[in-house]
Amino acid sequence: MNLILMGPPGAGKGTQAEKIVEKYEIPHISTGDMFRSAIKEGTQLGKEAKSYMDAGELVPDEVTIGIVRERLDKNDCKNGFLLDGFPRTTTQAEALETILSDLGTTLDYVLSIDVDTEQLVERLTGRRVCPTCGATYHVQYNPPKEEGKCNHDGAELIQRDDDKPATVRKRLEVSLEKTMPLLDFYKDKGYLVSINGDQEIDQVFSDIDRKLGGLA
Ligand SMILES: [Zn+2]
Repeated sequence: MNLILMGPPGAGKGTQAEKIVEKYEIPHISTGDMFRSAIKEGTQLGKEAKSYMDAGELVPDEVTIGIVRERLDKNDCKNGFLLDGFPRTTTQAEALETILSDLGTTLDYVLSIDVDTEQLVERLTGRRVCPTCGATYHVQYNPPKEEGKCNHDGAELIQRDDDKPATVRKRLEVSLEKTMPLLDFYKDKGYLVSINGDQEIDQVFSDIDRKLGGLA
């Protein structure tokens, strides 16, 4: 099963990815992991990527795409893979089509976890941090024992600027704007499967599982 997992920050992509790779026994391939292992193995492309990263520059598409090609050609991908964080652009998506066709395979599904923007804002603005010890909490999902106070040292919890509603909304808008063309690309190709992410974690996974069912 060849899969791509997409979804905005806060949609619970990481949790679903874990469940998918466990059930379908395919590797979870995130862009970050892919770069780290190429660099660690010291491949030519890994070295090139590193030189850009060390210089604080964006890794150019052809290097990224080369690293994806090397990764998908490995033995553990013979039964499929779950790509996460790649592709980010339609150019990369087109390159992925070519890579897969070269490898004699195709995509099966592009899973998009959809969550209502206001719901996401609520999730993403709930984080509170202890300025003293750095412990993190969430007002809904992981509240401190006493409201607004750190469990460890009683310090007054703060909300980081990054977690304030205006910043979060902006970040979500930018993310959505960037993702839209990609979603359209995969919709046109018939790969796109929308998953309702406004549900309990297990329900989201059971929806994914049902969509993928029978193809495992
Ligand atoms: Zn603390």
